[in-house]
Amino acid sequence: MTDLVIYLGDVITANNIMIANASLYWDQAISPVRNRGIPWVSVFGNHDDAAFEWPLEWFSPPGIPPIHCPQTTTSYSGDDECSFKGTGRLELMSNDMKHNGSFSSYGPRNLWPSVSNYVLQVSSPHYPPSPVAFLYFLDSGGGSYPELISNDQVKWFRQKAEEINPDSRVPEIVFWHIPSTAYKVVAPKFDIRKPCVGSINKESVAAQEIETGIMDLLLNRTSVKAIFVGHNHGLDWCCPYNKLWLCYARHTGYGGYGDWPRGARILQIIQTPFSLHSWIRMEDGQVHSEIIL
Ligand SMILES: [Zn+2]
Repeated sequence: MTDLVIYLGDVITANNIMIANASLYWDQAISPVRNRGIPWVSVFGNHDDAAFEWPLEWFSPPGIPPIHCPQTTTSYSGDDECSFKGTGRLELMSNDMKHNGSFSSYGPRNLWPSVSNYVLQVSSPHYPPSPVAFLYFLDSGGGSYPELISNDQVKWFRQKAEEINPDSRVPEIVFWHIPSTAYKVVAPKFDIRKPCVGSINKESVAAQEIETGIMDLLLNRTSVKAIFVGHNHGLDWCCPYNKLWLCYARHTGYGGYGDWPRGARILQIIQTPFSLHSWIRMEDGQVHSEIIL
């Protein structure tokens, strides 16, 4: 039984969606999880609110497709409601959060337009007040926003962690979309060999534009166990980086580049003594790349 699904960004490719609000496509993308009554959270990737790009083929026959305007024309007030401008992070997140099963959050306003910075407490059903782990979610930018985790996000993480986990007693797991440059340092050169574990290493790490201190902070917190990112569809490994594990998820959706078989990274948290197990489950049910982090 799955307790929580984490959408690690690039839920939709918003470029060139010819409607005023792309939330409809977001809803379609998350519908398999919603229909099964499984709770979920989401963070943003670089494609979710990417800027509109004019495809060259629109300038040849059959030409530019018609814009789909909102159905209710009575309140139509002009370009804002009927354009190619795309849908911003706040709009997408506000739609996600409307659903009952969503545990996603905007994150603090002072970090906007970096949306989706928040923490979830994982508790045992036997004693809910006591945290078993904290899951931190960060917006690593991209699309309408630079590809980075800013100094303000680092500050927010530090303050939050000191507030909820002052003695670093509770294990912490971190999720964002675009790998930090540390992933380049640990990336397997050719084959994936121990201590790394995974099954595909088919492209180079496409890291964030700059590093502003998030990795230093995480390395210095004894409670942080692992970081999970998406972004690179052709990579699914976990590698150690000092005392941290740096992991990729597995390309899960039907969109985006590459034709590698789809799968999902599974995490299992064992409470006592605490351990974090992970493996990849393919669409056909095959399981591989098991590891204890
Ligand atoms: Zn991406």
